[in-house]
Amino acid sequence: MIDPFGRHITYLRLSVTDRCDFRCQYCMAENMTFLPKSEILSLEELELLCHVFIRRGIKKIRLTGGEPLVRKNIISLIRHLGEYVHNGELDELTLTTNGSQLEKYAADLYAAGMRRINVSLDTLEPELFRTITRWGRLDQVMQGIRAAKKAGLSVKINMVALKGINDTEIDDMLAWCVAEEMDLTLIETMPLGAVNVIRADQYLPLAPKLEDLKSRWPLKASSHSSGGPARYYTVEGSKTKLGMITPMSHNFCDSCNRIRLTCTGELYMCLGHDDKVDLRQVLRAYPGDVAQVEEALHNAISQKPERHYFIIDPQDDKPTLQRFMNTTGG
Ligand code: SAM
Ligand code: SF4
Repeated sequence: MIDPFGRHITYLRLSVTDRCDFRCQYCMAENMTFLPKSEILSLEELELLCHVFIRRGIKKIRLTGGEPLVRKNIISLIRHLGEYVHNGELDELTLTTNGSQLEKYAADLYAAGMRRINVSLDTLEPELFRTITRWGRLDQVMQGIRAAKKAGLSVKINMVALKGINDTEIDDMLAWCVAEEMDLTLIETMPLGAVNVIRADQYLPLAPKLEDLKSRWPLKASSHSSGGPARYYTVEGSKTKLGMITPMSHNFCDSCNRIRLTCTGELYMCLGHDDKVDLRQVLRAYPGDVAQVEEALHNAISQKPERHYFIIDPQDDKPTLQRFMNTTGG
């Protein structure tokens, strides 16, 4: 699949649920209304769509959410998608998780063919962890990370950098990742969804932070690419890479290779736009007719926008998009 700007679309981010056992301040409001079950695609429908995407050239699938591991029977979908990894049709099947259910599922993920996962972790302080996630427990996530490593999964930590909240902890997080031989990616907060915090107060531009880190850490720009928007730096003398995702301060859309499917079958061609194509309607109007889904997908790719335009304006704190991050999974 090639979009109008010549970009090859090979990466699908699949949000399998909008629900979550945490309520991270920057992602969700405390009282969220979740989608009714009738609107959510069944695991079989999700699998069929993935089958079509893979036929059309998707090589990497990342499950996300909400929290992907709270969806009932999610392991059965992961096992089925894992078969495409085992037969070589998919290069990678992976997951972004808050880690709360990892202890239970790590071995199953490995057996299904996953080798690397991302765990979102914004602080190593139990109290602050509770404050940021509202409902989460740090010890549970730490146990999950240990279980994942023990099962053979390579773990990358994703940390949303929040001014005045966890920005003084970035050095500690990097030191911990170096000691644990894990990669760390820092992410700028994005204005998605009306959460009850003032985004401008929390927004920490990462470009100056990187210069600050360079004064204390032996960071060397790396040509490594995970096929995503992160720019990487090796921490010399360690096995750790530091990634920076800077959607606010630096635009990386030129090399965008991804599309996003929500758990209701809406296909978003860009995280920063509201344009979407309703694949559930096609799927349910023409049951089992793969050609119809392929045609809808082809039309969708021809509408992929060139870039996003995120704005965090201290004078006007409305989100750039009303959609919450748990809809599309980041
Ligand atoms: N629940 C899983 C998790 O937290 O890893 C997967 C879904 S979560 C929406 C995916 C990623 O998006 C997480 O790393 C989270 O920190 C990040 N995220 C959520 N809201 C964000 C926002 N407004 N700006 C930047 N990143 C955000
Ligand atoms: Fe849940 Fe992930 Fe959003 Fe936190 S960032 S509320 S864990 S979906």
